[in-house]
Amino acid sequence: MVTIDSLHGVNTKVIEQLAKLGIHTIDDMLFHLPLRYEDRTKIKKLADLKIGDHTVIDGTIQAAEEKYGKKRSLICMLEDETGTIMLRFFHFYPAQLEILKPGTKIRCFGEVRQGYNCLELIHPQYELLDYSNLTPDLAEHLTPIYPSNSKLNQAIFRSLIDQIFAKYDIIDYIPETLRSQLNLLPLLEALQILHHPTPQIATTDDKIPARHRLAFEELLAHHLSMYSLRVNASKHIAASLNNAGVLVQALLTQLPFKLTNSQQRVIAEINTDLNSTSPMQRLLQGDVGSGKTIVAAISALQAIESGYQVAIMAPTELLSEQHTRTFANWLEPLGIAFTWLTGSLTKKKREQVLETISSGQASLIIGTHALFQKDVEFAKLGLIIVDEQHRFGVHQRLALRNKGNQDGVYPHQLIMTATPIPRTLAMTAYADLDTSIIDELPPGRTPIITVIMPNTRRDKVIARIQDVCTNEARQAYWVCTLIEESEISQLQAAEETAIKLQEALPELQIGLVHGRMKAKEKEQVMDGFIAKELNLLVATTVIEVGVDVANASLMIIENAERLGLAQLHQLRGRIGRGALQSYCVLLYQQPLSEVAKARLGIIRDNHDGFVIAQRDLDIRGPGEVLGTRQKGVMNLRIADVRRDKDLLTDVVETGKIMFKQYPEQCQALVQRWMKEGLHYGEV
Ligand code: ADP
Ligand code: MG
Repeated sequence: MVTIDSLHGVNTKVIEQLAKLGIHTIDDMLFHLPLRYEDRTKIKKLADLKIGDHTVIDGTIQAAEEKYGKKRSLICMLEDETGTIMLRFFHFYPAQLEILKPGTKIRCFGEVRQGYNCLELIHPQYELLDYSNLTPDLAEHLTPIYPSNSKLNQAIFRSLIDQIFAKYDIIDYIPETLRSQLNLLPLLEALQILHHPTPQIATTDDKIPARHRLAFEELLAHHLSMYSLRVNASKHIAASLNNAGVLVQALLTQLPFKLTNSQQRVIAEINTDLNSTSPMQRLLQGDVGSGKTIVAAISALQAIESGYQVAIMAPTELLSEQHTRTFANWLEPLGIAFTWLTGSLTKKKREQVLETISSGQASLIIGTHALFQKDVEFAKLGLIIVDEQHRFGVHQRLALRNKGNQDGVYPHQLIMTATPIPRTLAMTAYADLDTSIIDELPPGRTPIITVIMPNTRRDKVIARIQDVCTNEARQAYWVCTLIEESEISQLQAAEETAIKLQEALPELQIGLVHGRMKAKEKEQVMDGFIAKELNLLVATTVIEVGVDVANASLMIIENAERLGLAQLHQLRGRIGRGALQSYCVLLYQQPLSEVAKARLGIIRDNHDGFVIAQRDLDIRGPGEVLGTRQKGVMNLRIADVRRDKDLLTDVVETGKIMFKQYPEQCQALVQRWMKEGLHYGEV
C-alpha cells in the first residue's frame, strides 16, 4: 500500500485534510470519485447559455464600472457576436480595473446565474486573450470536481490523480478471465474514464460500465472479507455436541405447545452443526414472535447434555431478565443450574456469579454483553447464543468469534435476529454466517390491526385504553419515542406522559419502565405487568425486545414517524401474542412528509418482517435496514446496494472462484478497500 505522502505537494496540512476525507493511500485517492464534471472542452456562444451551466465563454468587454453599494463590486458587460452577459467581481485589485476595460478580450469560466435583469457570472475565472495568448488550449477532458472540504481546493485532487496515473502501476486484482466472463472493464480503463472522461461519455449516469466495474470490485472486496472469516473459522476445531437428546425430549414433553414445522427444520439444521467438529456460525432469522427462544433453549440443552456450558447474550437487561424467567420455567424442572450476569450486579453478587461460571456449577449463563468482559471465565463453554444481534455492533459480533476459545477448541455460535435481512443484502453483509430461517408464526395468532392517527386525536386513543383495560380486562402499552433528543429528555417525556395519562385515566394502574431504571425497579414493574396488577405500561423503546405478555392487546406508539420500520415492527410484535385481536395505534406529529406517510403505510399494511425490510431497503437503503449499529458492515464508498443489487449474485459466485484460485488477489482486494476488515480477524 503506497501512502499518499509519497506524492508531490502533499505536506502535513494536506495529509490531515485528506485523512478527514478518508484518503490515506493512493488507492483511496483513486477511488475518491468526482461528484460531477465541468465541460471546459468547448466555448459556448452567449446566446446558448442556460442558467446553471458551468461553461467556457469568449468575449470582448463592452463596458466596465466600479459600483459602491453595500458591497464594492466591479461589473463588466461582456459581448460576443450572439449576445451579452454581465460579470460581477467582489474582490479585485486596482490593477484589474486597468485590465478589464472596454475593448479587452477575455475567456471566462463560471456558473451562469440569473442576475437582476440579465444572465451573469459571479467571480468567473478568466484569462486574457491578448497577442501572446490568442487561442489558449481548451481542456481535452471533462474537468472533474471532487468531493472536498473548504480546506482543499480542486487543483490538489487533480494533481494527485495525474501523478498517480503517471507514476504508479495500478494493479487489477480481478483476473482477466473472470473479467471477460463478467464483461467488466479493466480497472485502469475504468479509473481513467471516471477521472478524465471525454465529453462524449455520459458520466452522470450511475450505470456506466466504469462505475459498474468499481462498484463490483468494492462489493467483491466486502464479500471476500466476510467470506474469508467464515473459511478461516471452518478450520477451527469445536467439540462435537452429539448425544441422545434426553434433555431435549424432556423439555419437549413438558411444553404446552407443539413446535412449528419451521422450528423443527431450523432445529435440525442447528443440530447438524452442533454435531460437527467445526464451530457453528449460524444466523437464525425469524420474525418477531416466531418462537426463536425455544429454538435457543433446545440448542442449549444439546450442549448441556454433552457436558458443556452455554452463554446466552441479550442486548438489554430487560430482555436478559425476560429470558431468565422463561428459561427458569423450562429448565428448572429438568434440574439444570443457570445464572444471570449483567452489569448491574453488586460487587459481592458478581463475584458469586463469576465463581459459579468458572467452577462449571452453572450450565447456562444468561446476561448482557457483561458476559464477555475480561474477568469472566467459563469452565467449559460449548455454545454461545446471541439474541437480537442487530442491537449489537458488527464489531461486537466479530469480536465474539475468538472468545471462549479454550486450548484451541472454539465454542459453537448461534446468532438470532428478528430483523430480517433481504437475501441480497445478507449475501454480502453476513457472508461469514450460515443462515436458517423460521418462516411461519405459531398457529392461532390473529393478525394485529394497525391504524395511523395524528397526535391531535389523543383523546380518542385514551378513551380506547380505558375501554380495553376495564371492559375487556386486557392490558396496553404506551411507547414514548423522542429519538433525536438525549436519553434524559426521552426519559422526562416518558415520565410526563405517565403522569398525564394517570390524570386522564384515574381508575387504571399505570407503570413506567425506561432504560435508566435500576434492574430491580424494572423487574418489579415488569412483574406487576405480567401479574396483571398494572393495566397500562408506559415505556421508552427499551421494550422493543424482551417483553412477552400475551394479555396485552393494545399498543400506542407516539411519534411513530421517527422510528425505523424494523423497530416499529419489533415494537408492534409485543402485542398479538395470543389469539386475542390486538390493535396498534401509530400516532404521528403533523405535518407528515410523503415518505413518512408511505413508510407508516407499509407498517399498517404488512405483517411480514421480510416484506417490511425489503420495502425499507427500497426507500432508505441498507444502512437503515441493518440498523445504525450495523452500518460498519456496509460502509460503501461507490457501490449502493439498492442500485447495484443486480451485481450481488455475480459477486458471490466470483468470490467463491477467487477465494479458491486466486488467494493473493483476494487478500490484496480486501486490503485495498477495507482497512477495517483487516482487523476483524484479530479482535
Ligand atoms: P421471538 O422469535 O420473537 O423471540 P418468542 O420466542 O418470544 O419469539 O416466542 C413468542 C411466543 O410464542 C412465546 O410466548 C412462545 O412461548 C410462543 N411460542 C413459541 N413457539 C410456539 C409454538 N410452536 N406454538 C405456540 N406458541 C409458541
Ligand atoms: Mg426473542
